[in-house]
Amino acid sequence: MTARTLDGQALAAKMQEEMKPLVASFTSRHGRPPGLGIVLVGHDPASEVYVRNKVKAGSDAGFRVDLERLPEGASLADVLTLVDRLNRSEAHDGILVQSPLPKALGKGAEQRVFDTIAAEKDVDGFSAESAGLLVQNRPQLVACTPAGIIELLEREKIQIAGRRAVVIGRSDIVGKPMAMLLLHRDATVTICHSKTPNLAEICRQADILVAAVGRPGIVTRDFVKPGAAVVDVGINRVTDAAVASRLYPAGHKRLTLFQSKGSILVGDVHPEVEEVAGALTPVPGGVGPLTITMLMANTLKAARERVRS
Ligand code: NAP
Repeated sequence: MTARTLDGQALAAKMQEEMKPLVASFTSRHGRPPGLGIVLVGHDPASEVYVRNKVKAGSDAGFRVDLERLPEGASLADVLTLVDRLNRSEAHDGILVQSPLPKALGKGAEQRVFDTIAAEKDVDGFSAESAGLLVQNRPQLVACTPAGIIELLEREKIQIAGRRAVVIGRSDIVGKPMAMLLLHRDATVTICHSKTPNLAEICRQADILVAAVGRPGIVTRDFVKPGAAVVDVGINRVTDAAVASRLYPAGHKRLTLFQSKGSILVGDVHPEVEEVAGALTPVPGGVGPLTITMLMANTLKAARERVRS
C-alpha cells in the first residue's frame, strides 16, 4: 500500500483563494481591511523567518499586517504595554506575539503576555481563556496548527466521529488543543508523551495518528495500523548524516538533497510509514503551510465577530 498524500500545501493555497473575496468584501463594507498586529521581540533568526512569512501571507491576502518590533532588551512591561495598545486598537482584529520571547524576560513571561491578549483578538489561541473555551467545547479562536489539521482531515473526508485517535505530544500549542478538537468531533482520544510506556502499541490502535513530538522519524511502521490516517506535525532540521541515512535509503532524492545542502527538514514520521498508512501528510508541504493560512482565517473570523458585536 502507498499512502494517499494529504496535501496541506494545496489546501492552504485553496483556502487563501477562498479567503480573498471575503477579505475584499469586509474591506469595502467596513472601509478598512481586517488587521493583524504581530509583536516580535528581539531578532531570533527562526522567528524572523516565521514573521516574514506571516506578514507576506497576510498582505498577499489583503489583510493589514503591522509588525511591531521591540528590542531584545525590552522589559516585560514594554511587551505588555504594546499588547495593551493593540488590544485597544480599532484597526487590529488579531494580535500575535511571536514565540519564543527572549529568555531574559523570565519564566512564565510568555504565558503572561499571551494571557494579556484580549480573547476576541487572540488569533493564536494560546491564552488561558482561549484554551479554556476550547476545553469546554465553546471555542472562540483555536490554535492554528491543530485547527488546520482538522480542516485538512474534514476536507479530505477522513471520518473522525467514532474513530480512535492517538495524539503523540501534549504541548499547549499543538498536542492538547489537537486532542480536544478530535474529542469534540466524537473521536475516542488517547494522548501520549515522553513517559508513555508501550508507545508503538498504543499508536497502533489509532485510526487517526497525530505526531507532534519534534523527534525525526520517531514514528516507524510498527506504530501504524494499516490504512490509518497519519498526520505529521514535526518539523525537524536534520544535520547529522547518520540520522539522514536512517530515514532514507542510499540514492533517495531526499538523501541526495541532504548531501548537497548539509541539512534537511523532516517530520516525526519515518518515510517507511508511507507503505503502511492509508493517508499521510508530507513534510514539508503538509501541516506547515496550513498553520499560516489558519492564522489568516482566525484574523478574518475575529474581524467579522468584532464588527458584529
Ligand atoms: P514540544 O512543546 O516540545 O512538545 C513535544 C511533545 O512531545 C511533549 O509533550 C513531549 O512529551 C513529547 N515527546 C518528546 N519525546 C517523546 C518521545 N520520545 N516519545 C513520546 N513523546 C515524546 O513541541 P511542540 O511545540 O508541540 O511541537 C512538536 C513538533 O511540531 C516540533 O517538531 C515542532 O517544530 C512542530 N510544530 C510544527 C508546526 C507546524 O506548523 N507544522 C507548528 C508547531 C509545532 P513530554 O510532555 O513528556 O515532555
